[in-house]
Amino acid sequence: MAKKYMVCSRCYGQNVKADAYAGWNVETQQWEIDQTFDKGAYCDDCDGECRIEAVDEDEMMACHECNKLTHPNALDAKRPEGADENADATILLCKSCYGEGYSII
Ligand SMILES: [Zn+2]
Ligand SMILES: [Zn+2]
Repeated sequence: MAKKYMVCSRCYGQNVKADAYAGWNVETQQWEIDQTFDKGAYCDDCDGECRIEAVDEDEMMACHECNKLTHPNALDAKRPEGADENADATILLCKSCYGEGYSII
């Protein structure tokens, strides 16, 4: 089965958290998630409430620099420094690799 990625519907980042109920497991001495909710999800990148979208792994694209699988909408095209002016040589970078001037589509 294809892996699912959870992304923020606003910035397409993956630093999202779902609101959930957890139940205490005496055996493992851990809180275990019983149920997650569609509402009340939180995105660290947007620093606020968001909606989470499930995306199949094959819809994700690798960042040119760090190779991290990223939602295509969260990749921004950049012309590498020193690249030929006329060459169509833009590369797709994730937010953290792009640096200043990053903007999502
Ligand atoms: Zn976000
Ligand atoms: Zn990257």
